[in-house]
This record gives sequence, C-alpha cells and structure tokens, in this order.
Amino acid sequence: MGRKANHKQPGALPAPDTGLIQALVIASHGRHFMAEDAQGQHWQLYGKGKRREVAVGDSVLLSPSGDCQAWVEQIEPRRNLLYRSDALRSKLFAANLDAVLLVLAVNPPYSPELLGRTWVACRNAGVPLHLIFNKADLLDEQAHEALEDELKEWTLGETPIHFISATEAPGEAIERVQPLVQGKRVLILGQSGMGKSTLINALIPHARAATNTVSEALNAGKHTTTHTQMHRSDEGLCLIDSPGFQAFGLHHLSEQDLLNEFPDIAEPGQRCRFANCRHLKEPDCAVKEGLENGDISEARFELFDLLRNELGSA
Ligand code: GDP
Ligand code: ZN
Repeated sequence: MGRKANHKQPGALPAPDTGLIQALVIASHGRHFMAEDAQGQHWQLYGKGKRREVAVGDSVLLSPSGDCQAWVEQIEPRRNLLYRSDALRSKLFAANLDAVLLVLAVNPPYSPELLGRTWVACRNAGVPLHLIFNKADLLDEQAHEALEDELKEWTLGETPIHFISATEAPGEAIERVQPLVQGKRVLILGQSGMGKSTLINALIPHARAATNTVSEALNAGKHTTTHTQMHRSDEGLCLIDSPGFQAFGLHHLSEQDLLNEFPDIAEPGQRCRFANCRHLKEPDCAVKEGLENGDISEARFELFDLLRNELGSA
C-alpha cells in the first residue's frame, strides 16, 4: 500500500467553498497540537474554547494564521473518542480509532486494575481491544496458562489475547501483531517498561526518531514528556503511541454505562431482593451469591465497586 493510502481518513483536501484546509491531527504535546494536510505540510494548531479540545486522530478544518500555524475552525464529527477523566480534568487519548492494543508483561508486573479500566473504557467507546502480552520468553508453561486464565477472567473471554516476545522473537511478534494493525488506525497503550517502544519500532522502524523530531518542534525546548504521536509507515500502518499511562480515571461514565460494561454483575443484579441493591451487605443478593460460588470474579466486582464510587464526581 502506498503512502497516499494512509491519508485516506480525513480526505485531506481543501474543503470546498470555505477556503479552509482539512488536516489530520498527528501529535499532541500538552496543549500543543500538530496536524498534517494532504500535501504533507505540518501545522501547529491553535484553538479557542471547544475547538481547543482536539485529539490525535481528529480530522480538523484549519485557517492558516501565519508561518505553519493555524486556527482550528472545526473538529469533524468523531467515530469514537477514547479518553480518561479524573475529578479535575480529562485527557483525550485519541479519536477515530479502529482498535486499541494494550501491551502487558510480567516484569515489570502489569496492573490488573489498569487493564480492567482500559477494557471498560474501550468497551464503552465501542473500540475493539487486543491484549498483547509481551515478554512471553519470561513465562514457563504453567505461568502462561495461569495468566491466560486471569486475563480471560478480567475480559469475560471477549478480548483476544496475543502472547509475543518483541526482543526474543521479533519476527514472530510482527507476524502476530501486523494483521491486527494493517490498514487500521490503532492506539497502543501500556505502562512503562512493558516493551511498547520495542514493539512499535519493530513494526515501524525509525518511529522513535520521528517522535523526537516532532516532539521537539511542538515542545520548542520545553521539558515535558507527555505527548501522543501518530506513526505511519509506507506499508499502511498507523500506530498512535500515547505514553504516560499511569492512571485511567473513568469519572465520565454514567451508572448505566457502568452496568452496560459489567454484564456479569448487572444481570444477576436483577435477581437481588432489592431493586437498588448495592451488593454489599443486603440480604438475598444474587451478586453476593455469585461471588461466593465463583460465578462472578472478585477482582471485577472490586473494580466495579471502585468505579461506582467514582461516578458523578467528574
Ligand atoms: P516501554 O517503556 O513499554 O516502551 O518499554 P521498552 O520497549 O523500552 O522495553 C523495556 C525493557 O523491556 C527493555 O529493556 C527491553 O529490552 C525489554 N523488553 C522488551 N520486549 C521484551 C521481550 O519480549 N522480552 C524480554 N525479556 N524483554 C523485553
Ligand atoms: Zn445485590
């Protein structure tokens, strides 16, 4: 697939009549954003109010305001948006995604809570999730099986799990991951140390060097490290790297969202004696019963309870 094909999403042509330029947001650095138009020209973006709230993957209409700088006049409607929010603010991960890959490993150990939160957020945003379990070379057969069971439990068996070893068997790793990302726009998440950079560089050589150039341009000498960046290859890969994945607040979810993303709790919950049962100490609680007989995962219930306590505090 040629390079042009990678630009298909926003069409990237000057929008008729308006004189505005259509562009794709390819990097964000705090409040600074960069977009690329059909000619490959990079624009540093400015926006007012809502038009400031752009995400990597957004298609935007721009009015140039000077030397490679432009105002965001419009953010085109999004197919989806993945973001996190805590009590104070929200962070947009990326928009218009075809999939999310979450990279996990045993060393350093992955956080099951972050896995659970990512799973809930992706399901809520309608974006397919794949778990990439890296550093499989560090696992014996028993550990591999135990992990697979644990991950299936967290994801209700809905989410594909791929065991790879990005450093020990890079060829196989690429073979495994490439079909998941080919021709798609994919966000790659992972806690630090899981091997995300190794994987991205295996799929798109020199991606890291490109990161440094763009982040220097956006950062203009400031020392910040949080940035989200889209990497594309001539082979039609489009990977969005979003570092700094320590927290994943889901304060923006509604109670109904939460029930939708926990069908394993919502369904038995309908059989509790009290319609407003919290499944904590109430008598005749079908969820408590499910937890006792092992039908419901304790880890998932704990996350449900945690997220329920965060509701409405956005
Ligand atoms: P990132 O923080 O997620 O971007 O992680 P890096 O790609 O920088 O990798 C962190 C460390 O894990 C580096 O020392 C890598 O060499 C190592 N690493 C990455 N993939 C593997 C793997 O498949 N097996 C093993 N044993 N180590 C790996
Ligand atoms: Zn109950």
